[in-house]
Amino acid sequence: MNAPAKTLLKEVDVLVIGAGPSGTVAAAMAKKGGASVQIVEKEEFPRFVIGESLLPRCMEALKDAGFLEAVEAHGFQKKFGAKFQRGGDLCDFNFSEGIHEGWSWTWQVQRAEFDQILAREAEKSGIPVHFKTAVEKIEFNGTDSVTTVRTSSGEVEEIRARFIIDSSGYGRVIPRLFKLDRPSNLPPRKAVFAHVKDERRANYDEPNRITIVSHEKGVWVWIIPFSNGVTSVGFVGDPSFFERNPEGSLEDRYRGLLESEPNTRERFRDIELVLEPRVLEGWSVTTDRFFGEGFVLTGNVTEFLDPIFSSGVTLATVSGHRAGTLAARQIKGEPIDWQKEFVVPTQVGVDTFRAYVMAWYDGSLEEIFYAENPEPLLKSQICSVLAGYVWDQGNPFVRRPDRALRALIGRIRSEAV
Ligand SMILES: Cc1cc2nc3c(=O)[nH]c(=O)nc-3n(C[C@H](O)[C@H](O)[C@H](O)COP(=O)(O)OP(=O)(O)OC[C@H]3O[C@@H](n4cnc5c(N)ncnc54)[C@H](O)[C@@H]3O)c2cc1C
Repeated sequence: MNAPAKTLLKEVDVLVIGAGPSGTVAAAMAKKGGASVQIVEKEEFPRFVIGESLLPRCMEALKDAGFLEAVEAHGFQKKFGAKFQRGGDLCDFNFSEGIHEGWSWTWQVQRAEFDQILAREAEKSGIPVHFKTAVEKIEFNGTDSVTTVRTSSGEVEEIRARFIIDSSGYGRVIPRLFKLDRPSNLPPRKAVFAHVKDERRANYDEPNRITIVSHEKGVWVWIIPFSNGVTSVGFVGDPSFFERNPEGSLEDRYRGLLESEPNTRERFRDIELVLEPRVLEGWSVTTDRFFGEGFVLTGNVTEFLDPIFSSGVTLATVSGHRAGTLAARQIKGEPIDWQKEFVVPTQVGVDTFRAYVMAWYDGSLEEIFYAENPEPLLKSQICSVLAGYVWDQGNPFVRRPDRALRALIGRIRSEAV
């Protein structure tokens, strides 16, 4: 059989791979900066993806990209904070009590709907989004490139671009094609989750925040209520935790997990599932480099740490915003120092969250959250980190997160003595 004929598509300044939050924000910012842009997306939308709890900081990126009004009009559940619960202990963070200037609320979203809105808004602004089109090969010639894509009907096409933004999330297109993947320094973790009809929600102080329930050391549960009465409930922990009860179907095992923790047992016993349980694991991967001649990586392609602080979509939209803006400036002929203008600031946010992820899993953050007399100013400073304001150098819990957390723990322990 002959190979399918190749069609040369129209050339673009900036080719964006992936129509998730990172890719759509990146594309919108590049277009705003005057570049011609095209998105290629492997799936047909709406498609399921995890990452349902947003942080206030991502609202700035969504606003600049021109997406905010459409998301608002959809009526997603508003999120004003995050509540942590360990047995009978509670620690409630209300984003309006943070020290940051900026947003004090955001949304809890069904990502299939949320991502579809962003992609539709990108299209409305004049950016072509080619769905069911997967990138298979990229050849660089300096900063120029030719990308080979395959559509779901088997057609192979080539796209010439002056710059590529890889926002392919878990697809990790450029790191895979060019062998840039590197293991993360975080231990592997696993998640088992589903969407449930939350009939007993009215008995709880919700739905305008998420709840994180500590289960046992290193294992925790997310409870993310949506505006339609459905709630996302997921268990995260070391893979060995999930191997303790290997019998039965995935649904049996998921129901067993709900039974295994007093808070979820009471609220979700015999609950109806509206999305069958799913399993995800091994998500913490990073890459040797965030950019190269002719490309930059954004969102999950750079590094996804851990779901505990809902940092994923915020890091994805903020890095997409920065990449799109810089790419447009480069297309206009301005020299861009990608290390200084993209990598360093992106890494500041990632490293701040990393310090909190580490402190969560070694138990020290729980000591802070459930301390008897929390100092209001310190709680406000940590609250701003949890709102995603992880670039605010005026906040000591951002500037030197490890040191600030260690000092606070030391004080709490000496007070306890
Ligand atoms: C268990 C778990 C829970 C999480 N919970 C949260 C949470 O509560 N809040 C939060 O903010 N984050 C959360 N995250 C993280 C979140 O899922 C991601 O950080 C976020 O989706 C990243 O957005 P993105 O745009 O970078 O990638 P994605 O949303 O993954 O979008 C990438 C797109 O690229 C497309 N693509 C892939 N390969 C190709 C290809 N070859 N060609 C063309 N297109 C391609 C994909 O189809 C996809 O649509 C969670 C992650 C995990 C693992």
